[in-house]
Amino acid sequence: MQALESWGMATRNLRTAAPAETESLGAELASLLDDGDVVLVRGELGAGKTTFVRGAARALGVDDPVTSPTFAIGNRYRGGRFTVSHLDLFRLAGLGREDPGLLADYVGPGRIAFVEWAPEGEPELDSPRLVVTLAHGGGDARIVEIDEPPGAEAER
Ligand code: ADP
Ligand code: MG
Repeated sequence: MQALESWGMATRNLRTAAPAETESLGAELASLLDDGDVVLVRGELGAGKTTFVRGAARALGVDDPVTSPTFAIGNRYRGGRFTVSHLDLFRLAGLGREDPGLLADYVGPGRIAFVEWAPEGEPELDSPRLVVTLAHGGGDARIVEIDEPPGAEAER
């Protein structure tokens, strides 16, 4: 696994060979995050989205086990400096129009939010700090692309 030290470009493509490496990558990425940041995590089922979030949450001081949200759209964990939100919006479509306040508990000041299956057109999610895209690379290999949308740094 390549280190993230030499960041500075808008996009990084990395490869992990085991779940622990994907967690480590999440942990490294976590050090770039700050109050209120949203990270979109994309990729098909089993690509490693939740694994990645688990590593990031751990690095942000979350001690509780990080598992896929099942009964709610998301889980919130007490981290070191921030609340860490982990949302999985797979079952939702156009949630904003149905309940505009649905994301308010998870995204905003004092929180860092990781969002799997983010739908388009949600104002709270439309200027992510980073977009992480995971893909199967054969066996236990995963391709991890990390994009910093233009302006994401400057807007903070
Ligand atoms: P998603 O949230 O994208 O559906 P999960 O993180 O829940 O995916 O599951 C990924 C599955 O793939 C886990 O069972 C994990 O152990 C396995 N896996 C195998 N290799 C890797 C890897 N390199 N990175 C992440 N997960 C991996
Ligand atoms: Mg998941």
